[in-house]
Amino acid sequence: MNDDNRDIAAMPDNGEAFARLRAQLATQAPALLIDGRWQACASGATLEVDDPATGERIARIAAGDADDVDRAVAAARRAFRDGPWPRLPPSRRAAALFALADAIEREQDEFALLEALDAGHSLASIRRGDLPLGLRSLRDYAGWATKIAGEVPMRASEQAGMDYFLREPIGVVAIVTPWNAPFLMVLQKLAAALAAGCTVVIKPAELAPLSALRIGELCRHVGIPDGVVNIVTGTGPTAGQALAEHADVDLISFTGSTQVGQSIMAAAARSNLKRMVLELGGKSPVLVFADADLDKAARAIVGEIAFKSGQYCAAGSRLFVQRSIQDALLERMQAAMDGIRIGAGYAQGSDMGPMISQRQRERAQAIVDHSLGEGAQALRGGRARPGPGYFYEPTLLTQATPKMRIAREEIFAPVLTVMAFDDDATPAQVAALANDSHYGLSAKLWARDLGTVHELIGRLQSGQVIVNGGGGEATLPFGGVKQSGYGRENGHVGLSAYTEIKAVRLGY
Ligand code: NAP
Ligand code: MG
Repeated sequence: MNDDNRDIAAMPDNGEAFARLRAQLATQAPALLIDGRWQACASGATLEVDDPATGERIARIAAGDADDVDRAVAAARRAFRDGPWPRLPPSRRAAALFALADAIEREQDEFALLEALDAGHSLASIRRGDLPLGLRSLRDYAGWATKIAGEVPMRASEQAGMDYFLREPIGVVAIVTPWNAPFLMVLQKLAAALAAGCTVVIKPAELAPLSALRIGELCRHVGIPDGVVNIVTGTGPTAGQALAEHADVDLISFTGSTQVGQSIMAAAARSNLKRMVLELGGKSPVLVFADADLDKAARAIVGEIAFKSGQYCAAGSRLFVQRSIQDALLERMQAAMDGIRIGAGYAQGSDMGPMISQRQRERAQAIVDHSLGEGAQALRGGRARPGPGYFYEPTLLTQATPKMRIAREEIFAPVLTVMAFDDDATPAQVAALANDSHYGLSAKLWARDLGTVHELIGRLQSGQVIVNGGGGEATLPFGGVKQSGYGRENGHVGLSAYTEIKAVRLGY
């Protein structure tokens, strides 16, 4: 271990590119993208963006407020009402989105470095996860642009004429995204909105806004018309809230916490009943049965809680293991945790970067401390790493009970809570343990007996069930039940939220 308590030195993966990026960010003027032009925010206020691995400032962004949101929404409305974008043949919109994907792909090394610096995640996880997933999602939505269609039902009445319905772009879309997968979240929502023919105002997360700004610039480069893509950086309670309350926004597509999701829903209700896609929090259960492949399960479970330092909405953070194999599984999981190399996301060989901020780290520590006080035991970790940056030890908590905070609250840290279920528990009893949560985003199941697997797939209250490993896919609907959200993203299911239906009776 070196001086600052990381496992590896903070050597950037590519020193020259890293130095270039730092220099470029340091001189980048804080600006909003409105109507195709980078411009200062009305108040001139700025916010600092830092490197979570060191706490150092890396850039300044504009602190947009309600006035800037008004200008951006007006530009998006003009582009929607008068501009070419919604009226283009869908194949032309598809071509622009494919061109955007190619442009991002050409810069993928720069995007990976930017995201690692801004959000703290390991380069390997970005290269394997966010980047290819984002590009697949963008290209998949581009393909759907030409397949959006209404229907002409069989004639149902004696009246002369024709009956049919159209699918039209919903209008001006507000995109509000979190810091834990900033590139992917912005790209997925932008792709869906643009494929459908909408115009957008993006409010990226204040803590990791930099990849969104670069995506905005590439939208200009590939010729997406002015006013179609607008970006207002700023804080949630000002810029975000102004979008949620805006009377001229038709849909708000939000990913973030359940609490903010609730406030957006209330703002939508108070203002104009704008439509909503809400991808919210999770406390996803992992169920491991005695017949599972324990080596594979242990590696995957630990890998997932280390992924983005546990700051992953679908992370399996509540583990229920069949009692007879608990020790065997824990032994393998401890070995896997001990092998995690911690260091800046952009450093060579880093498996796990820092958490996003000191505030998030303190919040996680308070939940851990509370549960330790109630009798949970830390087999590994349970504390922050001293030194610069916001690093947290990979943590394994046993002797937990379902009532502890650690088993109920979304922790968003590399902290896994372990509980055992009886060897003779029925699938229904195990499902009841897993379902004892107000979240329902994802559930992971490790078992080989097909009867058990099938019964649990049916009983789990979850938007997603993952059996024997793997993750989500760009073509598979993603979203939650209960307080994990409202609506689904990806594919034609996701796209439909960005369209409105118009029924036509054409008589003569
Ligand atoms: P957050 O605090 O809810 O913030 C999300 C976004 O909303 C940010 O851009 C934030 O701005 C903005 N915001 C904050 N207050 C607002 C308000 N009153 N009105 C409108 N917008 C507001 O979430 P986070 O801490 O960034 O991200 C972590 C959360 O996201 C976790 O709960 C996680 O589970 C969830 N998440 C869900 C999914 C999914 O697909 N279901 C995926 C990823 C993350 P600021 O940046 O300025 O605060
Ligand atoms: Mg940052």
